[in-house]
Amino acid sequence: MPLSRRSFMAAATAASVAPAALSVPRFAEAAAPPVGKQAPAFYRTKLGDFEVTVVQDGVVKVTKPESLVVNRPFEEVGKALDAAFIPRDNVWAPFTPVIINTGKNLVLIDTGFGDNGPPTTGNLKSNLAASGIDPKSIDTVLITHFHPDHIQGVRQKSGEANFPNAQIIVPSGEWKHWNDEGELGKAADVWKPSFAATKRVFGPVAKDVTQVEYGKEVVPGITAVDSRGHSPGHASYVVSSGNSKLLVIGDLTNNPVLFARNPEWQLWANMIPAEAVASRRKVLDMAAAEKMPIVGYHYPFPAFGYIAKLGNGYDFVPVTWQPVL
Ligand SMILES: [Zn+2]
Repeated sequence: MPLSRRSFMAAATAASVAPAALSVPRFAEAAAPPVGKQAPAFYRTKLGDFEVTVVQDGVVKVTKPESLVVNRPFEEVGKALDAAFIPRDNVWAPFTPVIINTGKNLVLIDTGFGDNGPPTTGNLKSNLAASGIDPKSIDTVLITHFHPDHIQGVRQKSGEANFPNAQIIVPSGEWKHWNDEGELGKAADVWKPSFAATKRVFGPVAKDVTQVEYGKEVVPGITAVDSRGHSPGHASYVVSSGNSKLLVIGDLTNNPVLFARNPEWQLWANMIPAEAVASRRKVLDMAAAEKMPIVGYHYPFPAFGYIAKLGNGYDFVPVTWQPVL
């Protein structure tokens, strides 16, 4: 039966006078507390038949931004930070290991701080768990160099290995330098923690650590590249699957808005400055020419993107988030 005008009015009136329920708000009056924490920090993508997972270990605030670049006045460095919208007094350094699943090997490149670093680090394990990767299933731990932010995570303070089923592979130049008592004897204080960390994490398994030379394949699909200078035996790694390649640069450059854009700028932690610049130009030229994506250990998360030539240097162009693999 069609609704008559009269019955419609009656219904409307009834509705307008009736239910107290109508005065109850239909939406929550949100007085919810802020959640106060960030999403798990992992980013996943495909590379040919390989699967790549970038997993952040954490970040630290740079205590003295004015000491980051040792061969330029801070005013010049400050302008580069301004241009990237990074406050001059609020610069953060991230730490970004990466996992390559080749289908045959599950390879972790660099290990973060483990339980041996600042409180805002040591998240590799929880972020790995969030990403669905079991540390026990990692069969290869590959290292770019022996500075503490890259190797402390090999082993807990208790002595327990964090990746108990993994073969450890390191650049031979790093192994030689950081295990050399003569080098320790003449090292500046700033490098003593790297010697100590080397002993602590590799000492118990020294005879089982495999050393790799530049140019050699580490596991099928991953090759060590000479990028010495930041440290004496620093290695980057090219990952290849089919026609696809990825370059894991390690510390070839620290923050890209400073050191990729200005390849001659020297980070305080560059141990052999002239070699660091030569390596930087050589390897970033290769990334730009081959349009190879890179992962940068101290790059802004997800630390994955491309290198384009820009002026006298290079620009880092981050990837676009892609939820479909
Ligand atoms: Zn580093």
